[in-house]
Formats: sequence, structure tokens, C-alpha cells
Amino acid sequence: MKQTVRILPGVYMVGSSDMTSSGDCMVYLVDCTSELALIDAGVNPNIDMIGSNIRSLGLEPNNISTLFVTHCHIDHAGGATSFRTRYGCKTIAHKLDSNAIEQADSYLTGAFLYRRDLIQCEVDVKLSGSDGKIRVGDKTFRWIHTPGHTPGSIAILLNTSGGNILFAQDIHGPFMPEFNSKISDWVKSAKKLIKLDFDVLGEGHFGIFRPQDKAVEYIKSCLTRYGYR
Ligand SMILES: [Zn+2]
Ligand SMILES: [Zn+2]
Repeated sequence: MKQTVRILPGVYMVGSSDMTSSGDCMVYLVDCTSELALIDAGVNPNIDMIGSNIRSLGLEPNNISTLFVTHCHIDHAGGATSFRTRYGCKTIAHKLDSNAIEQADSYLTGAFLYRRDLIQCEVDVKLSGSDGKIRVGDKTFRWIHTPGHTPGSIAILLNTSGGNILFAQDIHGPFMPEFNSKISDWVKSAKKLIKLDFDVLGEGHFGIFRPQDKAVEYIKSCLTRYGYR
């Protein structure tokens, strides 16, 4: 099994398909000093392992105050209710994906592909609009609405002392009518991300890309795959 990865000062990967559970997306942790923030929750059953990975970094999972759910898919949102119940963290998602999470819609959440049910989860903070900032402990997270893969997908940009990281889970797609995907929206979203100022890209399934030109090259390769540039 893969070990936790330190990406930048205070930014870690604590879950992934080859670290915690085969269905997990990449789960990122940000140390906000007095609190911890998680970016995505994985598919679910192995939140214990994510918790022990956090402890292995010398951090306390009980300090997770905030869970950003980048979109409604089960590999990202499946563990949300377990984290929320166990650690009392608040869940944050875009309002355009919140209903799917709260109602555990089998198609919109992609649960039908995993042959399991998403455990429904209340979304405490429903984001609306295209962009905003959220303060957690000593860190400020900028969220950017990036529709396309799902209607309410978001990316998150964080400045650290070691550089800026962009979390753009599932910017690679895929696009399915069951997800209400809209490829023309995705093209705009991907192009918007390319213009941001970041040094590292944290992807949802394909890991870490750096420096920025490599990350941009990766996003462009996703566009090329679908015939866009
Ligand atoms: Zn997805
Ligand atoms: Zn995913």
C-alpha cells in the first residue's frame, strides 16, 4: 500500500485507490494549524484508514472542521457522511451538486457504476455562483465553479508558503448523460483553470502534476483527447 504523500508544506495526500480503498479518489488534507480541511472523502468504507493516515502525519483527525466535496460522485462524496458524523466537520459543496449528495441519486452520483449506494449526506454549506473564498483556520481557500463533468463541480486554489496548489478533481472527465455532464461547459472550465496562478495540480485520480507548465500540459492533453484545444 502506498504511503501518505507530503505535497507542499501542510498539504498531504491521505487517501487514494492504491492507498486506502480501491474506489477512492485522491483525498487531500490541508493543515490549517488550529483546524484541518479535507478535500473529498473517498468512496467510504475505509475512513478509518484515512484517519490513521492523518495520525501518522502527527495530526489529529478530530480536528477536521471542513470537508470540501468537489462534486457529487460517490468516489469523492461517498465517505462524506461518515466524516461528518465521526468528526463533526461541516460539508461544503456547490448547490448544483448538493441535491444529488443529499438525495443519494444513483445516476448523478455515479453510484450505479460502483454497484453500491451512496450514503446520503447533508450539505452544510451550499456554494452558489462562480467563485468565492472560504477561511479555515489560518488558510484561505478559493473555490471556482468548474461545471462540465457534473453541473456543480468545483476546483479549489490554495496558497501555501511553498507555492500555490490547484485541486481540480476529475478535470479529466469522463462525461456521461447520467451525470448531466456538459462538455461545452467543461471546455470553458478547463480553460479557466489553465489561466490561474498555481505551481502544483492535485488531480482526483491521476495524482500530482508540477511545475505549472506540466500541470497545464496535462489539462490541455485532456482537452485534446476530446478534440478541443
Ligand atoms: Zn467524478
Ligand atoms: Zn472521480
